[in-house]
Amino acid sequence: MNNEILTIDNLTKSFPTGKRTLFGKMTNKLKAVNEVSLTINKGEVLGLVGESGCGKSTLGRCILRLIEPTSGNIYFNDTNVTKLSSHELKKIRKNMQIIFQNPYSSLNPRLTINDTMMEVLKVHHMNSGDEVSTICRFLDLVGLPQDAIYRFPYEFSGGQLQRLAIMRALILNPEFLIADEAVSALDVSIQAQILNLLLDLKEKLSITMLFITHDLSVVEYVSNRIAVMYLGNIVEIADTEALFNNTLHPYTKALISAIPIPNPSLSKERIILEGDLPSPAMHIQGCRFSNRCKEQMKICHKISPKMIEVEHQHFVSCHLYDTKYSEELI
Ligand code: SF4
Repeated sequence: MNNEILTIDNLTKSFPTGKRTLFGKMTNKLKAVNEVSLTINKGEVLGLVGESGCGKSTLGRCILRLIEPTSGNIYFNDTNVTKLSSHELKKIRKNMQIIFQNPYSSLNPRLTINDTMMEVLKVHHMNSGDEVSTICRFLDLVGLPQDAIYRFPYEFSGGQLQRLAIMRALILNPEFLIADEAVSALDVSIQAQILNLLLDLKEKLSITMLFITHDLSVVEYVSNRIAVMYLGNIVEIADTEALFNNTLHPYTKALISAIPIPNPSLSKERIILEGDLPSPAMHIQGCRFSNRCKEQMKICHKISPKMIEVEHQHFVSCHLYDTKYSEELI
């Protein structure tokens, strides 16, 4: 049975950079997302994790075509999203929603909550005449009092605003939700509440979710599977338990080693990554992680590793697990 709700096939997003030529073209390209392929199954939470600037938010925005992908395809329930006209795209967006990082800028400060939600329902032709009771039901679902309906955004705290941003996305009954660093701007005490709310609503409303974050401990808590991204490439994908218990990629190992343990009597070896994340505009031959990898080999500087399935549903892109190259290349 086909259980996939979203399939990303060889997706690339590059931005022009550098100097402008005589004919107005830019001389260089910055590849923010580089030939990414992955699937998301119905009902699951796929965590997408990586350092800031690795391209995970760009990938999230490409999925909804908030920015246009340069090449590749995105299939949502067998519809190729990259081929849709703007009219068809508007229809499908009702089913694919996003929550952004900053709740303070994602709601219009001039509109009451009632006006904001009414506008959303109207744009997607869901104004059946009973909108106020729909809004009140969703206020209840996200844990806010019904009198919030006539208040303005400045009357709410950061956590309450993020509840409203979640409500605005979910009031359209989408099948698929992208949470892009949805708790990163909140206090730690509020983060847990919002994460639990998202998981609760995911179950109640049967939503599939792509959860984008730079925080591995957060992604471990919410995700069924995790994809690790480095410099525009997916380097490892596995079930959450497999990724933490049998980490394969040197970059994932370094990320996991950086998670603090809340017990001072326990210690663990920390893998310190040297140097900063290189610019995606920089040309790196072979593996894009090779200039920071402690386990690099000769081949890593020549050939880009391909994604291979090392264990059942555990994929990694690293020459350490690829047996097809001869000894002398290594
Ligand atoms: Fe390190 Fe080579 Fe694996 Fe890249 S391919 S992560 S450089 S060992």
